[in-house]
Formats: sequence, C-alpha cells, structure tokens
Amino acid sequence: MLIYDLDLDQLTNLLTEWNEPAYRAKQIWQGLYQHLYNSPEQFTNLPKFLRDKLAQEFTFSAFTVKTYLDSSDGFTRKTLFELPDKNLIEAVLMRYGDPADNPQIVSSPTGRGAKNRRTLCISTQAGCAMGCVFCATGQMGFKRHLTSGEIVAQVMYYARMLKDVNESVTNIVLMGMGEPFHNYDNTMAAIDRLNNPDGFNFGARRFTISTVGLVPAIRRFADEKRQVNLAISLHAADDEERLAIMPVNKRYKIDDVIEACRYYVAQTGRRVTFEWALINGVNDTPEVARKLAARLKGLLCHVNAIPLNPTAGYEGRATDRQRAIIFKETLEQAGIPCTIRMRRGIDIQAGCGQLAGGLVS
Ligand code: SAH
Ligand code: SF4
Repeated sequence: MLIYDLDLDQLTNLLTEWNEPAYRAKQIWQGLYQHLYNSPEQFTNLPKFLRDKLAQEFTFSAFTVKTYLDSSDGFTRKTLFELPDKNLIEAVLMRYGDPADNPQIVSSPTGRGAKNRRTLCISTQAGCAMGCVFCATGQMGFKRHLTSGEIVAQVMYYARMLKDVNESVTNIVLMGMGEPFHNYDNTMAAIDRLNNPDGFNFGARRFTISTVGLVPAIRRFADEKRQVNLAISLHAADDEERLAIMPVNKRYKIDDVIEACRYYVAQTGRRVTFEWALINGVNDTPEVARKLAARLKGLLCHVNAIPLNPTAGYEGRATDRQRAIIFKETLEQAGIPCTIRMRRGIDIQAGCGQLAGGLVS
C-alpha cells in the first residue's frame, strides 16, 4: 500500500494495531510531511524494527519519473510520472516572480501578488472522461481515477525538489489531467491530507480546484464550505455553442452551472473564477462577451481568459492579443472583472489542456 494513501487517523489506528504508541504515528506523519522523507531508512527517530515494518507494509513511491522537460524560459517544469499500472500522469511546476517575468502576472488570478510564487499544477485522474474537444487530456479519454495518495505524491515530489533549493510550494492548482469533481472523494481527501496542520500544513486558500461544471458536486462543495478556491471552465455563453465543444453541457446547462455558482457564493462568500479559453472566431467576439456578462450579472466572480493552447486533435486557433483585449474590455465595461492570463510552458506542451501523457519530440 502507498503510504500517502493514509490519513493521520488511519495511520494512528494502524500503529495501535501494531501495539505501538500513538506518538509513533505522529512521528511518521511529521517525517513524511514536514521532513519530506521518502524512504523508511530516513526515519532515524524510529526504532529499527519499526522502520523495517514500514518498509514491509508500505511503498513510499507512487510512481517513477519517466522524464521531465523544462520550458525554454526555464520557469516551467513538466514531469511525466509512470504509475505502477503503466498509466502516465503529468504535473507541472510554474515559477513566477523571477526578474524576467512578465509584469502582467503580478495581478494574479487569485488577487494576490505574484512575487516568487511556486505554483504546482497536479492531476486527479489519468486521462479524463469529459471529452472537451479542445483539451489534449479529453482527447485521450479516461484511464482511471488517481488515489488520494497518488494526488498527494505529486505535491511531495515537487516539494522535495524545491526544498533542496530552499524554496517551497506556494500554490496548488488542480488543473492537470482529469476532472477533480469526477474523482471527488479522493481529491478532497488529498487536499485534507496536505492541509493537515500536523503535517504539510498547506493552507486551504492556496488551493484552486478547476471543474468542467459538475453541478451536484459544485453544490456539495458549497455545502462543505471549504476555503479552497473554485474555478469553473465555462468557455461559452450559449448552450448550443458550449455543447459543440464540451459534451458535459448535454447534462448540465449553463444556467444550472451558474445557479450552482450563485449557491456557492451564498454559502461561502467566496468569489468564483470562470475559465475562458479564447478561441479565434468561436468565443471571442464582443457579442459573446456581452452575453457572458449578462449571464454573470450580480455574481461575485472574475473571468480568467487564456488564449487557446494548441492541441493535436483540435483545429481551433488562439485569439490574438488585440482581440483578447477587446474581449476583456467589453466584459469589464459590463461590470465583470477579467484577467488575460499569460501562456506558460507552451513549448513543452505544459499549458492548460496540453497534458496528454505524451512527450513532444
Ligand atoms: N477538468 C478540469 C481541470 C483540468 S483542465 C476543468 O476542465 O476545469 C484545466 C483548465 O484548462 C480548464 O479550464 C480547461 O478548460 C482548460 N483547457 C483545456 N484545454 C485547453 C486548451 N487547449 N487551451 C486553453 N485552456 C484549456
Ligand atoms: Fe477533462 Fe478538463 Fe480537459 Fe475537459 S478540459 S477534457 S474536463 S481535463
């Protein structure tokens, strides 16, 4: 069993079954999530027989590193992991706040300053069942859900790498492969594990979950009143247009999604982000912007517009900068705040929607 699949209570129960005192569980937990140990020998504060038992009962590695790629600007790293069943997943580290960075990102999507951010984009599934036509992950289809430990392990991998250079993860976005709300329980368990104050202690507000808009899950998430940021991938302001690029719209219409978002804001008082991949001539006209603004009227929200990243299976092209600015200004004139997000990691296929478990040559 993968050790990252256990929460602290489960670990404590297990140690009790082994007739070990409860404080041993805390020591192991702290070793894993504060010292970032990834092999039993490193737990030198445990007696040898217990280290041996850990080695017998658990695996400490969720995957092997198949390869990694750094973007040409050096700010983005994509790592391709191979799971024991040979499925491939990817996770991306984005460094912001370095001197050569584009000042545009200083007004960050979450409204905070962007100095020295170390943002991880992690996967929740191998592949994805939602089939959005513009998304490389959607194009590859669904392989399987990740366990909570496999989600956590992606974070620990990069946390160790950053620790070696005296840095740490500052933000985690669940925007890699997969639909987090399709794997709800494991995703939330992973967040809770990383959030645990006795362990990794990663603040809830520094997570962002992005969803294709699974309405019952949005409502459940709202009821749980989590402090985690919520982003909704909308991409169209009209049901027919959305259905043409996002099959999920057959099940959940735009009105239902926006209603669920209003419920979320009412329950949590937190702002919702809408993600908008700007596709030339498809969803980037001033008319579309006005239609979108009308739908979002009165909702505490923000639109994150990002020019489409190219993928092999979709012919749409990115909106150019000038059209993107007009789109943003049209929204803002109608009272909806909008940020145009920088494209990052395009040259290594690590931008949004480009994580297909393959490698570029
Ligand atoms: N399944 C979730 C999270 C993963 S996708 C979701 O869909 O929200 C992360 C973000 O990338 C989503 O907003 C998604 O719509 C967007 N995206 C997918 N393909 C893209 C592409 N080719 N260009 C730009 N954004 C894309
Ligand atoms: Fe899945 Fe999100 Fe890609 Fe749609 S955009 S196919 S929901 S990963």
